Amino acid sequence: TQQQLIQSEKMSSLGSLVAGVAHEINNPVNFIYGNITHVREYTKSLLDLIDLYQQECQHTSFEIKDCIESSDLEFVKADLPKILSSMQAGADRIRQIVLSLRNFSRLDEAHMKPVDIHHGIESALLLLQQRLKSFRNTGIDAIKDYSKLPLVECYPGQLNQVFMNILTNAIDAIESLPETKLQRAVITIQTRMLSSDRVLIKIADTGSGMTPVVKARIFDPFFTTKPVGKGTGLGLSISYQIIVEHHKGQIKCISEPGKGTEFHIEIPLWQSR
Ligand code: ADP
Repeated sequence: TQQQLIQSEKMSSLGSLVAGVAHEINNPVNFIYGNITHVREYTKSLLDLIDLYQQECQHTSFEIKDCIESSDLEFVKADLPKILSSMQAGADRIRQIVLSLRNFSRLDEAHMKPVDIHHGIESALLLLQQRLKSFRNTGIDAIKDYSKLPLVECYPGQLNQVFMNILTNAIDAIESLPETKLQRAVITIQTRMLSSDRVLIKIADTGSGMTPVVKARIFDPFFTTKPVGKGTGLGLSISYQIIVEHHKGQIKCISEPGKGTEFHIEIPLWQSR
């Protein structure tokens, strides 16, 4: 059934997602963890110093600065604020990632909501950031050409799944080309008003492209050209259902071998669907 298909696709993209997210979260957590030890040690020496000061302050000759090793002072003045603000940046990053994960947690949502679709695109990009960054030596460039759009009445979790599927395919298509055949590693995302009541989202990649024979079948359930274990062939058929049936929109593909692929997604703003 459709529900089972959605569930199975959700599970298969979850595996690779979790690996990327674990990696993303691991860096800031290790950084924060390592520095907490540092900060604790210095806090302890400051407290010792205050103790010492309280014991000695009767002596007129006592000068607190004689007791402080200059390296300690340097640390408190220069390094500590820097370390604390990097730790805060790391914690912020983890918060962002967790927020993005929440966006993906409900595919079977019952209610439509007015949303800024750019948030969904950005969440998908954030979750894929590790793959984008670690591509060969150069990384994959994500070029954004966003327009100011009104809110779109939609099932946000479902729409996010569509962005995730298409962006994942775009990365796969770029990765599938050998270095000698790949001139640029770029994914371009464009958003536009199409008419007064429709938005258009274009997602283009400079990857392998498709032959007409492949292109004709991409929306078929279980059609995949990827190796066993990698592709389920469900991503685009589910994306089609989500856009065309659930949102009364359209999804089109323009592709040429060696040139790359472009997906056009049209969605009506309001659901007189
Ligand atoms: P899967 O990614 O699991 O194979 P999909 O339904 O998402 O399933 O895609 C079906 C097939 O469409 C892919 O196996 C691939 O051959 C082709 N395809 C999809 N997107 C692209 C793309 N951006 N570039 C080249 N081929 C693509």
